[in-house]
Amino acid sequence: MKNMRKDFPILNQKVGDKPLIYFDTAATSQRPQQVIDALSSFYTDSNANIHRGIHMLSERATELYETAREKIANFIGAADSCEVVFTRGATEGINIVAETWGMENLKAGDEILVSEMEHHANLLPWQRLVQRTGAILKFIPVTPGGTLAMDKLDELITPRTKLVAVTHASNVLGTHVDVKTIAKKAHAVGARILVDAAQSIPHEKIDVQDLDCDFLAFSGHKMLGPTGIGILYIKKELHKALPPYQVGGGIVYEVDFNDAQWLEVPQRLEAGTPAIAQAVGLGAAVDYMNERVNFDELKKHEAALTTRAIEGLAPLPKVRLFGPLEDLKKSGHLVNFVVEGMHAHDVAEYLNCNGIAVRAGHHCAQPLAKKLGVPASVRASFHGYNTLDEVDSFVTAMTGLVTEG
Ligand code: PLP
Repeated sequence: MKNMRKDFPILNQKVGDKPLIYFDTAATSQRPQQVIDALSSFYTDSNANIHRGIHMLSERATELYETAREKIANFIGAADSCEVVFTRGATEGINIVAETWGMENLKAGDEILVSEMEHHANLLPWQRLVQRTGAILKFIPVTPGGTLAMDKLDELITPRTKLVAVTHASNVLGTHVDVKTIAKKAHAVGARILVDAAQSIPHEKIDVQDLDCDFLAFSGHKMLGPTGIGILYIKKELHKALPPYQVGGGIVYEVDFNDAQWLEVPQRLEAGTPAIAQAVGLGAAVDYMNERVNFDELKKHEAALTTRAIEGLAPLPKVRLFGPLEDLKKSGHLVNFVVEGMHAHDVAEYLNCNGIAVRAGHHCAQPLAKKLGVPASVRASFHGYNTLDEVDSFVTAMTGLVTEG
């Protein structure tokens, strides 16, 4: 992990006279030099529009773009690279499923099951879909311990369930969700499952065939890649029935004045000029993870950082921690807390004065924040480039805040 940190030049700077401590990976990760170089090299040597050109640069750019798709397909264990659709990010991927598969397949009385710990990105598209179709939205409860009430699944998943859309890891509580079990139960009643992997794929190896999910969405920028690019995995057996999301160039093989014939997925869902350099950059992030990150070691390191943070914060007066703390100590990558009597933004501002970047707010999961009874909380989130010394500085700063005020 020490070797990994050297690859992230942005971390070698100061905030005032304090070294920067970046604990905001759950919002966006940093990028290694290898990804920055891949972006720069694309624009320096290979930039052109893809697919439609017959010249050398266009062919090169097309090859780089399609090679990135293959790298990502291999990385997530997809059976075929055509199952990998480039999107702007997790949000767009989930909206695509709601607007295409959802609008084609949902009718009044059908049920969509989500959890109470979803990011707005995996809640609002379903709210809108049920408003349009007359379908019903149901929720898997969050327990007081911060896990999903898996024992409620058998009563919540019924023959009326058409889709279960659930996060793989909570961006607020850090909870890891057993989506494989949920997939089995969903499939047993003929329902489909969508996994929001935005917070899991930066930290663990995902195999879509092992999870047996039908859709899986994530963002490049949280997994060491560029902004403006993400992935929607769609199981091949669902491709035929999917209409386009947006229409325009790049998705048709025949157009008449009044009609058009669509190409297959993934092209059918990638209208217009895509984020070519960013896709290539995401391919470079995947190369980086394959070559430089041992996921078992990453998990151990992040769990050690999380444990140190929990054990440092838990004894402090006025600090209240959220989430399944014992699970997080084994395999977490974030801590979430409030300081009683202090607004989360004030805590974050104080930490910023100490060089420490954390996030404060409802973390785009307002219904969960309301359920927890705190309008805003503070989240410190980690990756392989963080160190135990940084966590110690954070705990020292927090101790100063709650003891000296
Ligand atoms: N889902 C989860 C669990 C997230 O944490 C986020 C971002 O924080 C998203 C979805 C949305 O990701 P993006 O804003 O990159 O589309």
